[in-house]
Amino acid sequence: MTKPAGASDFIRDIVERDNESGLFGGRVQTRFPPEPNGYLHIGHAKAIHQDFETALAFGGVCNVRFDDTNPDTEESEYVDSILADIAWLGYEPENIFFASDYFEQLYEWARELIRRGLAYVDDQDGETISAQRGGFGKPGIESPYRDRPVEESLDLLARMRAGEFDDGARCLRAKIDMQADNMWLRDPVLYRIRRAPHHRTGDAWCIYPTYDWAHGQSDAIEGVTHSICTMEFDVHRPLYDWCLANLPLPGDTPKQIEFARLEFTHIVTSKRRLKKLVDEGVVEGWDDARMPTLSGLRRRGYPAAAIREFCTEIGTARTNARHAIEALEAVVRRHLNKTAQRRMTVLRPLKLVLTNWPTDAEGNPVVEYFEVTNNPENPDDGTRKVAFSGELVIEADDFALDPPPKFFRLAPGREVRLRGAYLVTATDAVTDADGNVVQVNATYDPATRGGDAPDGRKVKSTMHWVSVPHSVPVTAALYDRLFTAAVPGEATGEALDDLNPNSRELLTDAVGEAVLAEVAPGQVVQFERLGYFAKDADAPGLFHRTVGLKDEWAAIQKRQAQGG
Ligand code: ATP
Ligand code: MG
Repeated sequence: MTKPAGASDFIRDIVERDNESGLFGGRVQTRFPPEPNGYLHIGHAKAIHQDFETALAFGGVCNVRFDDTNPDTEESEYVDSILADIAWLGYEPENIFFASDYFEQLYEWARELIRRGLAYVDDQDGETISAQRGGFGKPGIESPYRDRPVEESLDLLARMRAGEFDDGARCLRAKIDMQADNMWLRDPVLYRIRRAPHHRTGDAWCIYPTYDWAHGQSDAIEGVTHSICTMEFDVHRPLYDWCLANLPLPGDTPKQIEFARLEFTHIVTSKRRLKKLVDEGVVEGWDDARMPTLSGLRRRGYPAAAIREFCTEIGTARTNARHAIEALEAVVRRHLNKTAQRRMTVLRPLKLVLTNWPTDAEGNPVVEYFEVTNNPENPDDGTRKVAFSGELVIEADDFALDPPPKFFRLAPGREVRLRGAYLVTATDAVTDADGNVVQVNATYDPATRGGDAPDGRKVKSTMHWVSVPHSVPVTAALYDRLFTAAVPGEATGEALDDLNPNSRELLTDAVGEAVLAEVAPGQVVQFERLGYFAKDADAPGLFHRTVGLKDEWAAIQKRQAQGG
């Protein structure tokens, strides 16, 4: 038996022991089972990573199976987006299955359970059935239909399927134990009547299997060995096992293994809650760059490799924990630092005119070109030429007419470095009627070409700049947390109460070096001193700030280490 590749975790340990004991004949098959009722979020990335990497580590197979047993909330649009997101994350399922393809087999097996005296049709409504379920320390009450003859249940189930009864009028229940400590074993519902068009089976069915009746059986039909899911299914496991133990399965009996959900501060990971943000117009769609959906994070510029790496780094546990979103951002920043080329962009431009800039023989302003490194972290990215002239822009907050203490950037009479170009000294500023600075005049020192003074004199600040005649317009989207609270909804139970009304700031006057026009949709570049920015996939000239440059996670860890 070969040792699994990559980092180990308790799930791999289980698989390894099963391989050693020959439980599944050395076979390893997993599946990722999304319900197509929304777009995938960062939490799903952990499940996808776990399912695929576990299979890959043992040379096994991982499939995608859509758990499409609830026609009310499911749509083909979600199926398509889910498949696109899995591919983007870097995984290729061996097969794409749908639980709805097993409806006939599940129905057949329901008949088998009835024949074995292990299921019955209940004529009571849902409310009565829940009331009879009892609770912790409170025994359940058996349905008066529990012991009806097998033939009668078989006939009623057929008539439920044929559409003879109203929605909710009857259901099929497993006959297990109304006194069981585990609530899920108190005669759970297996089939309900629901007239709703299904995105794949249309109106072929008006009865639908419940999650518990569909999941384990679908695993068994496909030959899944290890059915990995999140902790909330821990309490369902006895029912999962009960169903499989009482059916004539075609092959191995799959094994359910649970692990902790991945959750973060300042975001919600629940399709239902995310759908609400979309439906109420809080965001522009499932793939809004503020959304913790995989399509949102992709638009925002998160590299798939960074997400995978984060999933590996945090490992797999059985205790639910909320991770600081800054920890994920730190991994994203680490990746982008290596891959993103550097560019200069000015977000809030202030005109800077060099009054001693020369003109050529024809009286036109001279243009100079500086060769700069595209990415100091990756020499293979080479260099590029950036145009420089006497008509520049700098960030508005890099200049102060009346500099406060500790302000070391440009001010009248002060010399600073324009990155990679020259040292310049501000002489005076032009203000508008309201006193706002609209232009700064400065002189440059021709002896400092490249940014260093031959006499060795020092300046306290280096600033980025853009030459106006050589610029392109840019719209920059800056983001703050979508939710202000670390645990959205913790105080009131409603996450929307903690929405940050200022989660996005659009800067429409930004300008960047001309080469920005060549950035491909989805590509991320570093705007020097400002952060990493992803070119929008659709809107021309729009860049989303993926993350800033400052490692907030390091600061948080330092505070934690100091007991703060
Ligand atoms: P949601 O509440 O967002 O709808 P879900 O669990 O109902 O989540 P499914 O489509 O049923 O969503 O999930 C598919 C798989 O992804 C399941 O195996 C589920 O356990 C797993 N999963 C869902 N959310 C997370 C999460 N936050 N962390 C890890 N795995 C998750
Ligand atoms: Mg679900």
